[in-house]
Amino acid sequence: MLLFLNFLKKKKNEDKPKQANVTTSKPRKENEQVAIRKGEIGEFKIDIQLDQLPKDCRYLSDLLVKNPKSKSGYSQIDHVVLTPYGIFAIETKNYQGTIYGGKDRKTWLVNGKFKMMNPFVQNYGHIKALTSFIDKKYQDLFISMVSFTERCTFKVDLDYRKIASDEIIVYDVELSEFIHRKVLVLKIQHKEPLLNESDIKTIFNAFSNANITDPKVREEHKHALKTNISDDKTNSGSISTCTVCNKPVSDKVKSYCLANKKFNGKIYCYEHQKKAHKKIH
Ligand SMILES: [Zn+2]
Repeated sequence: MLLFLNFLKKKKNEDKPKQANVTTSKPRKENEQVAIRKGEIGEFKIDIQLDQLPKDCRYLSDLLVKNPKSKSGYSQIDHVVLTPYGIFAIETKNYQGTIYGGKDRKTWLVNGKFKMMNPFVQNYGHIKALTSFIDKKYQDLFISMVSFTERCTFKVDLDYRKIASDEIIVYDVELSEFIHRKVLVLKIQHKEPLLNESDIKTIFNAFSNANITDPKVREEHKHALKTNISDDKTNSGSISTCTVCNKPVSDKVKSYCLANKKFNGKIYCYEHQKKAHKKIH
């Protein structure tokens, strides 16, 4: 908890996207744990924001649902927020770097060279999967959101940052603010709510029932992602990232690390390879 508060304090003074502030003097293992905890804090930060949404909104996190159109047979949706004016499907990305992307591009680039699938194409698949569990009358009420951490810089189509858009890209810390603003805009456009309390309850229950909780299936899905069987989530465009800082690494670096016993099956960027190496010698 202390770490979390420190993290918040720090964030206040940092407006610009920053690199991971992993202290260089610390041994590798500690760095790694900090990085893992940071990832958890990222999710935690989003959950706190979602908890603060108005009472007439409901949300679900980490849904795994059947999707016959996905290679793995499933889709994993990070967050779904149900509001009286729309259903927000939220995909979160953990990459560090500059994100280059456009509406008409199927693949985007991280740091100018690492390909990722356009996350809105990916999230469109998630939305299609979700609509299969609810009445057709709700299918046009989805808003697609993709959230990146502040360790990213956006070089994307400006439309993605416009509140009028139905495809919005945000930093994780802006997530609830953008949902609020989008709902306000929709409220002005439509005098009456598009979803009443009972609609929201029906949709919430439908998604809850569709969610696969069986730990075995969830574990299998994770494995499918790692081995690139699935076209969903982390391997979309098959970017591999450093275990410590989430910077994308090339396939060459990936194979080098995986083939090297001292890295213990983990992938490190050049910088963190050196640290992993120092620790051992
Ligand atoms: Zn690294």
